[in-house]
Formats: sequence, C-alpha cells, structure tokens
Amino acid sequence: MNGALTPAMNVNNLSFYYGNSKTKAIEGISLEIYEGQITAIIGPSGCGKSTFLKTLNRIGELEGKVRVEGTVKFFGQDIYHPQVNPNRVRRRIGMVFQKPNPFAMSIYDNVAYGIRLVGRRNREELDQVVESALRGAALWDEVKDKLNQSARGLSGGQQQRLCIARALAVKPKILLMDEPCSALDPIATMKIEELLKTLKKELTIVIVTHNMQQASRISDYTAFFSTDESRIGQLVEFGATPRLFTDATHPSTREYVEGRFG
Ligand code: ADP
Repeated sequence: MNGALTPAMNVNNLSFYYGNSKTKAIEGISLEIYEGQITAIIGPSGCGKSTFLKTLNRIGELEGKVRVEGTVKFFGQDIYHPQVNPNRVRRRIGMVFQKPNPFAMSIYDNVAYGIRLVGRRNREELDQVVESALRGAALWDEVKDKLNQSARGLSGGQQQRLCIARALAVKPKILLMDEPCSALDPIATMKIEELLKTLKKELTIVIVTHNMQQASRISDYTAFFSTDESRIGQLVEFGATPRLFTDATHPSTREYVEGRFG
C-alpha cells in the first residue's frame, strides 16, 4: 500500500482456471495498480502474465469456458459483479496485444472503429477523435496525409502505434499491453517506450514484458510472477521498480531480474 498514490485497480486473491481444468493458471494474486503509473508484469514463460492481464478487463472470458475467483475492483467497483457489462469494462480498460493487429480497413476507420460501435457517428466529432488519438499515439504526423489508405500498409511499429491509437480513441482509463514491443525492432520499440512515458500523464498502464531492461526503463512498479514448482502462477513480489531491481526481498526475484534464470 502506498499512501501517496490512488489505486486505479485493487486485485484481491484472484485465481483463474481455463476450461474444466482444476489447475489454476494464476493463483491468489493480490496487488494494487496505481493510477497514472506504469506497472510491469514480469516472470518466466507460462507463469500467468498474459492470463493475469486478461482478467483485468474480462477479456479472459472470451477464451471460452473459464472460472474466475477473487475480486478485481476498478476505482472501487467490482468488474465481475453480475450487473456489470463486460463490454463496458473493456472500453474503460483497453488492450494492446503482442502482434500488431490492425483491422483490414483504412487507418481512419481503424481508429474510428470503437466510437462507431457505440453509435457516435457525427463526422466532425469522428475527425476530432481520430486526430487526437493518432496524436496521442505519436503517429499523426506520419499518417495525416494517408488516412484513407490501408492500415496493413504501415510498418510494424506504426501498426502497433495505430493499435494504441485505436485503444485511446474510446478514452480508456487504463491500457493493458501484452508484450507490445516483442514483434518490433529496437527503434520502433524505443518509440513505443517514449510514447508510454508520455501517455502515463493521462492514463494508467499495465505492461507484460519479458524484457527486463524494458521493465526497469519504463515502469514505476513491478510484479514478479513465479513458475517455481510449488507456486506456479503466484505473485512472488510486488514493489517499486527501482527497489525490486536492486534490492528484491525474495531470492527468486533477485535471480530472475539478474538474468540468472527464465
Ligand atoms: P505467460 O503469459 O506468463 O507466458 P500465460 O498466462 O500465457 O503465461 O499461461 C499461464 C498458464 O495458462 C500456462 O500453463 C498456459 O499453458 C495456460 N493457458 C494459457 N492460455 C490458455 C488457454 N487459452 N487455454 C488453456 N490453458 C491456457
């Protein structure tokens, strides 16, 4: 608990099961996601990082039959409460995936997609939202003269910034990012990292990354998940990034951030 910061999300004793599995993909996770901060989720492959991210905006339920235990509160409201509309949750808590996934449509239509879905179609308003989202994603100058061209013609890095713009257009409070740079070259990666530092002035960000340097460069808080036999899918340690990277409490966190396994 950090007195100076407001939790945007409180996760309490959260576990997640896929299908009829009796095994939990994540188990008993409790932590707070602080508003206006970047939280990195790190840990070896298979420790439940992606699953955890997908529980934060109820996208995990789209995988088919799943079971969720525990609570996830978004500014105090339980997102799994039976009266909560999951689509609304997904609009407030946006997501960007590992591989850029622009729709097969124009750059403009990609960004306008989300607001058209909720029925706001006034052209002037759409134009404004599209421009502002593209500016927010640091892509406007590169695409402003070709908004009607196919999004698939953009470079990988531009496509990923377009996906960020598409997420920003519906004005989420939180952006979840699942290894957003792993398919990108170092320069495109650097651009996204710079962008995230700017975006956190208005947005809370949770990022899964397997890149330790990236977590230490850009995040304020870090959560380390485990694949130790006895604690698969559990949170080992959560704390301010500088401390976690230099003075971790748990030996396994220390070994992991020092690159000794994983
Ligand atoms: P990470 O992101 O840390 O690599 P994941 O969240 O992808 O870990 O996976 C955690 C565990 O859940 C793994 O054992 C994985 O095999 C399992 N898992 C992930 N996605 C599915 C799925 N769609 N169906 C069944 N099991 C899954």
